[in-house]
Order: sequence, then structure tokens, then C-alpha cells
Amino acid sequence: MKIQLLSSSFDQQGHATLEQRLTCFLIDDRVTVDAGSIAIALTDAQRNTVRDIIVTHPHMDHIASLPIFVDDLFAQLEEPVRIYATEEVIGLLERDVFNGNVYPRFSELENSHGPVMKYIPIRVGEEFQVAHLRVTAVGVNHIVPTIGLLVSDGKATVAFSSDTAETDAFWDLTNSAPHLNALLIEASFPNSMHQLAVVSKHLTPASLSNELQKLNHKGMDILAVHLKAAYRETLIEELAALGISNLHAMDPGRTYEW
Ligand SMILES: [Zn+2]
Ligand SMILES: [Zn+2]
Repeated sequence: MKIQLLSSSFDQQGHATLEQRLTCFLIDDRVTVDAGSIAIALTDAQRNTVRDIIVTHPHMDHIASLPIFVDDLFAQLEEPVRIYATEEVIGLLERDVFNGNVYPRFSELENSHGPVMKYIPIRVGEEFQVAHLRVTAVGVNHIVPTIGLLVSDGKATVAFSSDTAETDAFWDLTNSAPHLNALLIEASFPNSMHQLAVVSKHLTPASLSNELQKLNHKGMDILAVHLKAAYRETLIEELAALGISNLHAMDPGRTYEW
């Protein structure tokens, strides 16, 4: 399984940098988990192969360019863009984003081939198929309804925490997997901002370290994601100070393979 955290920041020359402002993980050039930077960071070839998008929650950094992605493809889509999300999150996307004011209600629009966007409701705890992947979602602990994911292509298995504070259900799901190749877990705020992490329901390196005590699998790659751009350097230092040899910050733009 190939996974890339799409870039979302650029330097003066227009080259992508390592700051992560938006969240979108591209899997095998076909599926994404969240869609923050989907319209700005995919190659043209990937734009033509990605039709399945799992939305973990409706926060802007996770859906910012989703409407633009569908808009870009509107005339050429030969099959709808499929949005996999819980009923709650679909309701929020319809109410707050694709509502005819912020953006058109694409779920009701068609081009010459048919519908351009389709919601696929998913239920936590029930495995579902997304393209070539088997996926199970579980509710995590964030300020809006949010899911973590266990994703398998039949060979490799990767867990995505999405945005979360302390959680048990996600670890129960992850521990239930026969094996785990990689864990992508959030580390949003430095330890000094613990209180903000608590109220916004995110992790710090210290609370991430506590969470990892709940993980039974050993030796897999642990990639810290969702590092707030303003604190990236501090976060990387604090993550290194945990002394966990298989834990690293995930580099946006780099393709990881398991
Ligand atoms: Zn969030
Ligand atoms: Zn977020």
C-alpha cells in the first residue's frame, strides 16, 4: 500500500514545503482519506484515478478543497465522486458546505454521464469496501463526530487516528487487526499547549505517548501527522524526545509504502 500525505504549503518559488495545513492522505493513487488539499496537490493523472474519498469529519482542514475537486472534474466525470462518511457527517456536509450557498449541492447535479457526486453512508464497526481496500471505521474523541480508520489491501494494514484526543475505541479496533504495518496518528500541539489540546480535543507528544501504551502491536512505523504548522519544529523535537525509535513525523509529499 502506497500512502502520501498531500502537500498543502508552498515556498516563494512555489515548491511544496513540509508544513501541513490541510489533511488529505492519498492511497494507491485511487482513494483518499480526507480531502483538505485534494484539489491543489494531486497530479493530473491522480485527478483522473481518484474517485473515492473517505471523510473522517467536516472540519475545514479536512474538506477545504473537496468542493473545488468536484467542480474541476464536473464536465468530465464518467462516474460520480463517491464520498464515504457517517450519516452524521454527510448531514453536516450537506447543511454547511454543499448547501447552495457555500457551494452547489453537487449530490443533486448531473453531467452528460450522470451524477457527479454520491454519498456512501458508512457505519462505525462495520467493514466496508472502498475501491480495492477493506476499511473499518470507529468513532474517536474529537469536538465533532469523527472517525478513525483501519485500512487493509489484503497485504498491508494501516491505522489512521484522524483528529482525536484520548480514545479507547480506536485502540480496540487497531489491536483487533492481525497485524499492523503503520499507524498514522495526530500530534497537533506542543506539550506547552496541553490545555488548548484538551479543549480542542487533540493530542500533544506527551498525550500521544500515553495513548501508545494502549497499542498491543509492536515494531510498526508510527507516523505523526496533523502537526500544526506554526509549531512543527517544536513538535518534531518533542516527538524525538519521547525516545520511540519507530516514531517519526510524516513528511508531506513523500510516498510511503508498506
Ligand atoms: Zn478536526
Ligand atoms: Zn484537523
